[in-house]
Amino acid sequence: MKQKSYLSEKLHDQLVNILGKDHIKTDHDSLQTFGRDWTCAYTPDPLAIVFPTSIGQVQAIVKLAIIEKIPLVPSGGRTGLSGGAVAINKELVVSFDKMNKIVEFDAFSRTVKCQAGVITAELQKFADEHDLYYPVDFASSGSSQIGGNISTNAGGIKVMKYGMTRQWVAGLTVVTGQGDILDLNHGLQKNNTGYDLRQLFIGAEGTLGFIVEAVMRLTQKPDDLQVMVMGVHNFSDIMHVLDTFQNNLDLTAFEFFSDKALEKVTQHQNLQYPLDTPASYYILLEFEDVSKNSNTVAYELFDECLNKGWGLDGIMSQNLSQNKSLWQLREGIAESISIGATYKYDISTVISKTPDCLNALETLINAQHPEFETIWFGHIGDGNVHLNLLKPASLEETEFLSQCNTLSKAIYAIVARFHGSISAEHGIGLIKKEYLSYTRSAEEITLMKQIKKSFDPHNLFNPNKIFDQA
Ligand SMILES: Cc1cc2nc3c(=O)[nH]c(=O)nc-3n(C[C@H](O)[C@H](O)[C@H](O)COP(=O)(O)OP(=O)(O)OC[C@H]3O[C@@H](n4cnc5c(N)ncnc54)[C@H](O)[C@@H]3O)c2cc1C
Repeated sequence: MKQKSYLSEKLHDQLVNILGKDHIKTDHDSLQTFGRDWTCAYTPDPLAIVFPTSIGQVQAIVKLAIIEKIPLVPSGGRTGLSGGAVAINKELVVSFDKMNKIVEFDAFSRTVKCQAGVITAELQKFADEHDLYYPVDFASSGSSQIGGNISTNAGGIKVMKYGMTRQWVAGLTVVTGQGDILDLNHGLQKNNTGYDLRQLFIGAEGTLGFIVEAVMRLTQKPDDLQVMVMGVHNFSDIMHVLDTFQNNLDLTAFEFFSDKALEKVTQHQNLQYPLDTPASYYILLEFEDVSKNSNTVAYELFDECLNKGWGLDGIMSQNLSQNKSLWQLREGIAESISIGATYKYDISTVISKTPDCLNALETLINAQHPEFETIWFGHIGDGNVHLNLLKPASLEETEFLSQCNTLSKAIYAIVARFHGSISAEHGIGLIKKEYLSYTRSAEEITLMKQIKKSFDPHNLFNPNKIFDQA
């Protein structure tokens, strides 16, 4: 089909020279699909979508973009929740869908070199097939890509034991805004030779350049995993339960969700309530059966929590299928509330301050917007909570968003008071740009802008994401 978008004939021909004609899309559906991420908050308006298949092609695209002054949007699995991969200003979207190969496996070093477009779940599967483990995991790992995970420094459900994506990146190949290819760290475990530029690309949300390949670390598989769900009264009790369990068992996850979240997910996915006794909040904890008597210890700890009044009721999985069903209660929540308009927060504090911060937020929302349905869930074991406000049926969407934007300032002021983060794992993108100063100082933002200028002097990569480049 002849290109429809704003792409000139000349530019189209130049891109065809680099990529071949089958790797450029300008039809309406592709522009709409590849011009947005999971936020769906913006109207896509890209110039075109291109699908390079090699590092050389990516470099040629950047060199062309420098000459023709074309802004670029790196695009992974588009599961991002911050508007990082959206194109709303006639940018060229560079999709890594066709750079999706595992390039090399080094069994001795336990590393895998992947192209940026490898799907997260494919890397997990590859590790499993080699009797190893890639531990970064979350509900969208079946669609998200390694390049996107690195660019957002993705976290997920196992952070308390295994850390964020950053911990698993041993090397990166990037194409900068000057069109240079940098091979950073070469998979080395130890390399103290000046600034570690690799770290700057991790979590940069595509603002410094393209990640084209990554050397990812793997680790040994965990022993048998057991899952327990426990009902609790309040945020403070959650912390007592965390303390009790993490002092005695090897926890791999400690998640929580509110009663409203449980109601949504059970309805949406047609699941059973896990417990007979109703509770305000539910903890899902997972532990590794290292000593082979961990189940006995877990039951004793559960009794202790009940006796101290922190826990109300609980259930422990007896087999793999029950593990999965219990996890489904937590993993299905995001999808179950994505049906109507939802305003999402992704905040974190140090764990010791989490209950006080969450209580302050709950008091604020109840006072200012008692009509909003509030859904809490998240990775509370590492201090990261997802707060979701659902639009009341009586309110127009624009009015709801405007009220949430006003409320956000009060919410982020509380988070700042606790020295927390306004974005624990999803990034800033477009959606949280105006609130960045609640977590980062003016001096830090100035330095970030200078770093961007060094890597991307023509301001081509994801312009005006994270901050406006004045
Ligand atoms: C149901 C659901 C659950 C989720 N749960 C979690 C969770 O628990 N933890 C968590 O951290 N996130 C979670 N997310 C958010 C999201 O999945 C992650 O941010 C993920 O890392 C995004 O990867 P992606 O490939 O989809 O990236 P995209 O959305 O395509 O892009 C994300 C950012 O990275 C940039 N980018 C993409 N590829 C490249 C590249 N090759 N080079 C340079 N920049 C690039 C984009 O420009 C954009 O700024 C969830 C999302 C959904 C929909």
